Amino acid sequence: MNLMPFKNLSLLNFSEESNRKKMLAALEKVRSDFGKTYSLHTANVVSSSNSPLIKSLNPANPAQVVGAVESASKADAEKALQTVTEGAKTWKKVPAEKRIQLLLDLARWMEDRRFELSALMVYEVGKNWKEADGDLCEAVDFCNYYAHEMNRLSAPRLTQAVQGEHDTLSYFPKGVSLVIAPWNFPLAILTGMTVASLVTGNTVIIKPAEQSSVIGAKLAEGLREVGFPLNSFYFLPGVGEEIGPVLVNDSRVDLIVFTGSADVGLSIIQSAAQKPKSGQRGVKKVIAEMGGKNALIIDEDADLDEAIVGSVQSAFGFQGQKCSALSRLLVHEKVYDIFVKRFIEAAKSLRVGDPTMPEFQVGPVIDDIAQKRILSSITDAKSRLKLLYEAKLETKAGYYVPPTIFEVSDIHENYFQNEIFGPVILIKKVVSLEEAVSDANSVNYALTGGVFSRSPSHIEFVKREMEVGNLYINRGITGAIVERHPFGGFKMSGIGSKAGGPDYLLQFLEPRTIAENTVRRGFAASESA
Ligand code: NAD
Repeated sequence: MNLMPFKNLSLLNFSEESNRKKMLAALEKVRSDFGKTYSLHTANVVSSSNSPLIKSLNPANPAQVVGAVESASKADAEKALQTVTEGAKTWKKVPAEKRIQLLLDLARWMEDRRFELSALMVYEVGKNWKEADGDLCEAVDFCNYYAHEMNRLSAPRLTQAVQGEHDTLSYFPKGVSLVIAPWNFPLAILTGMTVASLVTGNTVIIKPAEQSSVIGAKLAEGLREVGFPLNSFYFLPGVGEEIGPVLVNDSRVDLIVFTGSADVGLSIIQSAAQKPKSGQRGVKKVIAEMGGKNALIIDEDADLDEAIVGSVQSAFGFQGQKCSALSRLLVHEKVYDIFVKRFIEAAKSLRVGDPTMPEFQVGPVIDDIAQKRILSSITDAKSRLKLLYEAKLETKAGYYVPPTIFEVSDIHENYFQNEIFGPVILIKKVVSLEEAVSDANSVNYALTGGVFSRSPSHIEFVKREMEVGNLYINRGITGAIVERHPFGGFKMSGIGSKAGGPDYLLQFLEPRTIAENTVRRGFAASESA
């Protein structure tokens, strides 16, 4: 299939008035849709429902119900499994060209609604305009990129040219895929995992995070509207702890595509590795993208102007709730005092408030549970660590947490080792680059990290030694772009090939070699006539 070369969707420039006007209109429109209820499977709007509901609240104003979805029971999970297991028999026969075209159509569907989908993210998960638009762009990019990738993989590849035998390697779908997603990239990650499943010929159960189920419903609406067969996907929101294990343990699931916390990811890996039950066709494949404890090194000769901007954005963008977010700064003693002073001043300039209003750079955290957990971590940390800065909140109406900075000296400190997943950062003084890299590597995670340095030999050292899946040099450590920065970690940060990279789709496929004797002996009479 001839496709135009893949191109990333560009971020919107909100300093242009026309974009600001469109965003304000979209926020207004989405607000007028508040309170709708979306069904299981196809995410149709329903006027009444007998099922229990998951209500999605605006974290900046929890009195506002953004929307509700039907919450799946075990019986609903069974229905979903039956539907996609039956669907897998026909979906795998749909030519790759058709599946690729559907992804391109979905990309267009999202792009046509980019302001509305972004506005919904502002309300449902508390992203500011720019972060919401970045999420939308990544979702569109995943659709277009995986369409291109499947186009590359769909033609059987000649392995060797030998006389008398035709030898090829080609890829077949695994069967039924189960997608379990987090809330922090509510459209991008859910879309990426879902469309990768579909374009490779697998059918898919889509389990969004409870907190971002309405955005999940929008993805299902898009799949339905562009024409994915209704037995190729099943939108199945529900309480993770309840329906998650039912789905994960089911013998009809061939592939589990998970992104979220290490605790849940590891339990899924363990369950999937159990001895097969009756009806299970093989070993379940698990792709698990998990947490991070990401460090940035400020070297003795770093350009501090650049380093401050990169650090502040990486630490406090989306309230520190990106898996790639910076949570540990390792600063060389020669620049420690000046860097810390400037970093605190820069943090002071951030305003915390309702993300529907562009004057606020930092919004609320996702829900009351996260708010309580992060605030209690801050209180606990204060008992051991030196508090360098804690923002004063202008508003207390939503689930806000103050950007907070601590100084740490012991790498065994709990919060130096483990995720807080909020706008809290620990700074440690180091005497050398070697110490910085060793401190950075002391954690179980290996997701993102980086260095600001002007020394080529130091940069080479960091490239060689720092244990991270995505290493960023002289720039911030968040904001991976599809194809340009294939994304994902190792150690406890994940098992799987990088999302948005050339190996990703291979995980959704079974490679098969076909060797055919081509020395003609004639075909069966009925066919050669
Ligand atoms: P989470 O693990 O709490 O939830 C993720 C999903 O798992 C949700 O859909 C949830 O309902 C479901 N779930 C919960 N319990 C389950 C169970 N027992 N069985 C099956 N499913 C279950 O994570 P979260 O709070 O949504 O997301 C934040 C975490 O995700 C952070 O740790 C972050 O670092 C990580 N993350 C990693 C990446 C990456 O690419 N490595 C990307 C985004 C987020």
